[in-house]
Formats: sequence, C-alpha cells, structure tokens
Amino acid sequence: MLIKPKKKLGQNFLTNEKILDKIVKLGDITGKDNILEIGPGTGNLTKYLIKAKPKSIIVIEKDSDLINHLNLKFKDTVKVINRDVLSLPENFFIKKFKVFGNLPYNISTKILSNWCLSKNIRFEKLILMFQKEVADRIIAEENTKNYSRITVLSNWKFDIRKKIDIYPDNFYPVPKVQSSVLEFIPKQKIHKIRDPRNLEHVTRVLFNQRRKMIKKNFFKLFNNFDEILKIADIKLTDRPQNISVKKFLDLVIEYEKNLN
Ligand code: SAH
Repeated sequence: MLIKPKKKLGQNFLTNEKILDKIVKLGDITGKDNILEIGPGTGNLTKYLIKAKPKSIIVIEKDSDLINHLNLKFKDTVKVINRDVLSLPENFFIKKFKVFGNLPYNISTKILSNWCLSKNIRFEKLILMFQKEVADRIIAEENTKNYSRITVLSNWKFDIRKKIDIYPDNFYPVPKVQSSVLEFIPKQKIHKIRDPRNLEHVTRVLFNQRRKMIKKNFFKLFNNFDEILKIADIKLTDRPQNISVKKFLDLVIEYEKNLN
C-alpha cells in the first residue's frame, strides 16, 4: 500500500531500524507492561514494541487513512484506536501505561502539558520523541534562555533525561529539524498543590513576556507582594528563567492561600 505522508499531521516516519530498536529498549518492557503508543503512523515503532512482548499494546492514531493498514498489519496483537490523542478522557488512563511516541511536532508541547496538568493521570514511564528544540526546552536548566513554562510543568511531575539525538535523514520524509528522545520517570514525591490549574495560571502569567523582568506580571497575581517575594525567595527584577521549579510551586501555594 502506498502511503502519502501528511505534513499537517506531522507525519515523518522513523525508518532507521537500529534507532527504533534502541527507543523500545529504553522502555525496559516486561510482560507486565501495558503499552500506549501515540501516533504509530505506519507502525514502524509498533513492530518493535510487539517484539518486546508487553502485556498489551494500544495505539492512538488520528489519521483514519492509516487505520486499515495498522489493523491489517498487526491483526490481534495491537488495539488500534482512531482518535485525536488530545481528546482522550482522563479515565482512559486508569491503567498505568508505559507510553511511547514520536509525537507530531505541532502538538507535542500541548500533549505533554495536558498530561502534566491533569489531576488523575499516572504513568509508568514515558519515552517520547520531540523536535530537538522542544526537547532542549523541556530539560533546560534554570537561568538559561531555554527555560520555559514546559520546563516547569514537566519537571514538576517527572525526572527527565535526554537519551538519543536523531538526525533528520533517519526519517521519511526528511524533516527540517533534528529530533531527541526523552525519558520521563514519574517522581515519587511531587510538590503538592491544590489544583494544577493554578500552576497553569501562575506560569502562564509569569512567562508572558519571558525575556522581561517579572515585576509587571507579578502584580497581576499578588497584592501582598512584599511578603510573597520573601517567602518564595524571588526578586521583582528576576526574569521567569531565574525562578526554579520549586520556587514556582511555592508561588502557587501562596497564590492558592490568597484565593481563600
Ligand atoms: N511513530 C511513527 C510515526 C510518527 S509521525 C514513526 O515513528 O514512524 C506522527 C504520527 O502522529 C503520525 O502518524 C500522525 O498521523 C499522528 N498524529 C498526528 N496528530 C495526532 C493526534 N492529534 N493524535 C494522534 N495521532 C496523531
């Protein structure tokens, strides 16, 4: 079957067998694992996931044109779901999945931030591929220009490590950008806040105009700013990139107190 890749769905199929194998090995899959793959495309990675013999595999693919192909190729070994990953309800994640995915570039940050901000979704582990620039933002250190909102959200929930950088010529069609595979291990202990939507809000406000000092945006969040600055150990002259993940969470806790 001839498959014409669709640009708007971020279809760049990974064709290097060695890399596919390496990605799957990062998951340390055992017979107890339930696997979820996002955007299987033509099933290149899925084939290697099957070889690792997990308990179950579900794949979520938005492109209806690929569904028949996937069903024929994998018959009963894989459950193929034709759906937009962003529309999955929280109760879909009742099982704790090991998640794999060469994520569509245009929505990868959205997918990850949704998962970080959800109250109930738990994972076993995530092995995800991103455009290299996005991966570099996710794992950025504070005080660097890559440090972003997604750094804060994802490092709140996960310990994250970069595992592989992949050059464009390992894909068909060849993308313009490099890619990186990251491993996300859920933290045992996370900084407790009342509602993740408050973290969403505080980071959104403070990262607005991310190169500027937080001063102006800070006043939008707090009236009692002298006290808060002291508690969270930050300065009005800080830029968002100077505020550590822990300090952001301290700010959210104070923000939540003020909501009472
Ligand atoms: N994993 C495959 C394909 C990666 S390309 C490989 O490495 O070869 C990204 C895949 O994500 C494409 O198959 C695309 O159709 C799918 N996709 C794009 N947007 C999606 C969405 N919102 N939900 C689920 N799948 C999506």
